[in-house]
Formats: sequence, C-alpha cells, structure tokens
Amino acid sequence: MILKTVNVSTGPVGITAEVQSALAAPCISHRSAGFERLYIRTTELLCKEMNVQQTFLLTGSGTVANEAMLWQIKMKGGKGLILSNGEFGTRLIEQSRRNLLNFLVYKLEWGKKFDVSEVEKLVQHNELKWLLFCHCETSTGVINDLNTLSEIATKNNCLCFVDCMSTVGTYPIKLSKVAMATASSGKGFASVPGLAIVFSNIPVQTGDYIPICLDLHHYLQKKGIPFTISSKLVSALYTSIQQKLQNNQFELLHEYGERFYNRLSNQNLVPYSDPQSKVFTIVHRNNARKDFIDKMNYKQVLFSYESEYLVKSNWCQLATFGYYTKHDLDYVLQALG
Ligand SMILES: *Cc1c(COP(=O)(O)O)cnc(C)c1O
Repeated sequence: MILKTVNVSTGPVGITAEVQSALAAPCISHRSAGFERLYIRTTELLCKEMNVQQTFLLTGSGTVANEAMLWQIKMKGGKGLILSNGEFGTRLIEQSRRNLLNFLVYKLEWGKKFDVSEVEKLVQHNELKWLLFCHCETSTGVINDLNTLSEIATKNNCLCFVDCMSTVGTYPIKLSKVAMATASSGKGFASVPGLAIVFSNIPVQTGDYIPICLDLHHYLQKKGIPFTISSKLVSALYTSIQQKLQNNQFELLHEYGERFYNRLSNQNLVPYSDPQSKVFTIVHRNNARKDFIDKMNYKQVLFSYESEYLVKSNWCQLATFGYYTKHDLDYVLQALG
C-alpha cells in the first residue's frame, strides 16, 4: 500500500487541498474592492480568535513581523528585558541589538526554563518599560509561561511583547493581555510562508526613520494595504485559519501531543518537552539519529533535521503545526514505534 506523506516538520507545513486551491486561484489586485474585503475578513477573524484589537499583515517571513514589532518598542522608548533560552530568543536579541534598543538580557542555556521571580526582580529593580520573549522557543520546544510573564509585566507597568510564531494555531491562546504579538502564515497557521503577522492592543506610532515597509502606523493610515500584498497568500491564510480554528483541531492536537510526548519520553528522547508541547526536539545519543532519520524517511513521515542548529546539536524535530486527521497522527505514532 502506498501511503501519502504525513508532514510533521516545523515548516514548510503540509497544506490542505482547500489551501492549495486558494493558492491556485488567480491573483487579484491589492487595489481592488475584492481584495479589501478579503483583507478585512482575514484580519477580523484573526482579531476575534486571538482576542486582540488590531491585526497587521506584512509581506515577509516571521522575522519581518518581529522587526515591525521592535520598531514599535523603539518608539515607546525606555529600557526593556529580553529573555532567551534558545535560537529564537537569541535572534530577538540580535535584531534588537541592530536596532539599537536599550535592554537587559536574561539568557539561559538552551532548553532551560526561566525563573519567573528572577524576571520580576529584574523588571522591578530596573524599572523596565518592556519585556520581550518567545512564547514557544521553537528550537527546543520549551513553552515559556506567557500568562505569568504577562501578569508580571502588567503588574509592574511594563509592556509585554511576545513572539507567538509556533503557538498560534496550535493552542487556544488569547492575547488580550499583551501589548503586541507576532506570528507568520507558515508554522502554526498552516498556510504557506510569506505573510508576517503583527497583533496589537496598543496604539501604533510612527517615526521619521522607521523604514516605511515596517511602519505599522503607515499601514493603519492606508487601511492596512499601503503596498502590494499577494491576494493568494491572504486567501490561503484565511482558508487555513478557518480550517484550523473552527474544526476542533486543538482537541486533536492536544490529545496526540500527549501521546507523542509519552511515546518519545518513554524512550528518553525529549528532555526539553512537556506534555503540552506541539514541537518535540528529539535528542539522540550516538548514531541513533541517523537510524531514526532513515526509518522516518522510509515511512514517509516528513520531519525536520536539516536546520543549522539541529545538525550542530545532533537533534531532530517533530511538530504538529499542520491540519491533521486522526488517521495522519495515528500513522506518525505508529512510525515512532
Ligand atoms: C520560525 C520562527 C521565527 C521566524 O522565522 P522565519 O524564518 O523568519 O519565519 C521567529 N520566532 C520563532 C519562535 C519561530 O519559531
């Protein structure tokens, strides 16, 4: 029997037939009334599901969304704190350094969890004005405690900014307590990459020296569409979000996340993950990694092992970012042995 491939990679995520056909439809002009309606439909759905006041769509990958958010942090001014316990936290630090933001760093070894009382001390003692971190540190699968961290920020008059790239669309998260958050069309929203998404609950500001393509205030003035945005990407994203958020995928992902976790942790393979994880970083000893890759390739399970940091650490990753049937996930579970 020839099985179809099941994609449990961290991206590009497998897309459904419906998303595929949205992509296959002809492009429409970003100046047309049809595009405006599509744009409004999509951003309104995102605002409702994520519990935020505003949603911006920019052309680019997730890193672009973070860049636009960093410019807003810069306009707010004041000293902040950036947390890092993996590749993506460190990328936020690097982007912020290039943007000449004023900040402290609380950096841990990859895979370690932040001590929230330490964060609170840092915020209070330094009268910090903003806090920035990744909700799920995708490189290790560690989930950072968004609720507690955003409460600490609010309590101390500090704005909370969060990179939710790999948690949106995989958990029922509500973002009403944060100032801003970022996402992308790939990863948890399970469409093709190409749109950077910024959620905001604060008024966006403009500044003379913000590159115009990253100036959210400029987007707002132009009803969200100052420049070309591909109608195919917006239409595919809309289709995908509808499927993912409105067909109880969360329950399925929750159930199978735990089953993956149990299966893998019984073999001592996932030291950084917990049962809530939707990204599993698999740490093999010795040469077992190669056998695992061969086995999964043979079974046609698509997963991640080629990123620079995965190769360097001798790791692999499985993630349930796509839209799955029970049958798909049973198949992966079986392949894991
Ligand atoms: C994927 C990801 C990004 C952005 O990556 P791009 O390659 O620019 O899309 C940023 N933060 C986290 C946590 C991610 O998982």
